[in-house]
Amino acid sequence: MGSRAKSAAVFRRAKELMPGGVNSPARAFGGVGGEPIVFASGKGAHLTDLDGNRYIDYIGSWGPMILGHTHPRVVAAIGEAVARGTSFGAPTAAENELAELIIAAVPSVEMVRLVNSGTEATMSAIRLARGFTGREVIIKFAGNYHGHVDSLLVAAGSSAATLGVPNSPGVTAGTGKDTLVLQYNDAPGLEAAFAAHGDRIAAVIVEPVVGNMGTVIPNPAFLAALRGLTQRHGAVLIFDEVMTGFRVAFGGAQQVLGVKPDLTTMGKIVGGGLPLAAYGGRADIMRHVLPAGKVFQAGTLSGNPVATAAGIATLRELGEHPEIYARLETISARLADGLTHAATAAGLSHSITRVGSMMTLFFAPAPVVDWPTASHADTARYGRYFWGLIDRGVYMPCSQFEALFVSAAHSDEDIEQTIAAAAAVFQSPEFTAA
Ligand SMILES: *Cc1c(COP(=O)(O)O)cnc(C)c1O
Repeated sequence: MGSRAKSAAVFRRAKELMPGGVNSPARAFGGVGGEPIVFASGKGAHLTDLDGNRYIDYIGSWGPMILGHTHPRVVAAIGEAVARGTSFGAPTAAENELAELIIAAVPSVEMVRLVNSGTEATMSAIRLARGFTGREVIIKFAGNYHGHVDSLLVAAGSSAATLGVPNSPGVTAGTGKDTLVLQYNDAPGLEAAFAAHGDRIAAVIVEPVVGNMGTVIPNPAFLAALRGLTQRHGAVLIFDEVMTGFRVAFGGAQQVLGVKPDLTTMGKIVGGGLPLAAYGGRADIMRHVLPAGKVFQAGTLSGNPVATAAGIATLRELGEHPEIYARLETISARLADGLTHAATAAGLSHSITRVGSMMTLFFAPAPVVDWPTASHADTARYGRYFWGLIDRGVYMPCSQFEALFVSAAHSDEDIEQTIAAAAAVFQSPEFTAA
């Protein structure tokens, strides 16, 4: 790997212009130390930085790039949309097309509203659940991240987990008091919360497969409690599928798990790499959104024609080629096996979690099932693993508490190279010394 002098120079200037030098905190490498790499371009499964170094990319823009970077069909669709006009603030036929694709793909979604970010989707879904039920309390789970919505920034995962910000300054105590935080995978805890507050609970929001404390898989008892208790007490079950939607299967985690939530939030893949997200679900609930109903939610750029075109092209490509998911499963399983084998050979205590093409290698002593078990992971060791891989041309998530993503553009050779690089890192003096 060559010099990163140009990256360093750009980042030095960026720190004077933007807080921490970035426009989103996870990019600042707080979870692994050192300075972020500044990128010039991406193609397929590979990224090239400003200094001309090339990396196999497992961040995929934190999820959206399931087809790889600059996929020809997506690039063409964006170009054609730009030429027709970038924003009208009025209905377009393309919005119908994307809504139809989403409704056909996601089992529980009957109506949908397009927004601009995952944060906006979860914020809007929470407001809708409260407006629909006339109740105030929201249940969320420790280590789950739902964007930077005030009421959901309590015990949040993602960069909030990485940076150790359980409660952000600026979130009022009043906002926090209507949010109950429970442990993930704790069915008895959920039952106790409903027993105590059942008639005040508007919604339970959950990552049906967690990505934002690293990948964590739900247990069957927890899933049954989520669906059963919300139904019995008239609360809205919200699956936050911003990460898992169109990722773990075309129909998202709800298709894999066989559980239908009342509302679903989507982002990342649904926008094909442009700023677009969505929330949707039962028609009787969605009809409460303005102007069909009274729950306010609006957006100047919502359903933006360029972003919508990128989403349509991405979903069409995925929908027309189910073999993409079969291949993602095969190469992701191979990567997980290879990483486990390398870690075992090096005598490292670890635990690997995977659903489809999202996975996490935890340097943790026991299986990771919730935030307390995730938080035992050795983050310093993860940092040495991350930098060892960077030196060998592999760009992994820059935090122990973020899932890695395999894309359809990763070749068998990319996967084998990554496994070999990890094995080399585990044996290197830089990794074993500390
Ligand atoms: C990324 C993410 C969000 C936030 O989406 P943004 O587009 O970053 O606002 C919300 N929920 C989950 C599960 C996510 O992974």
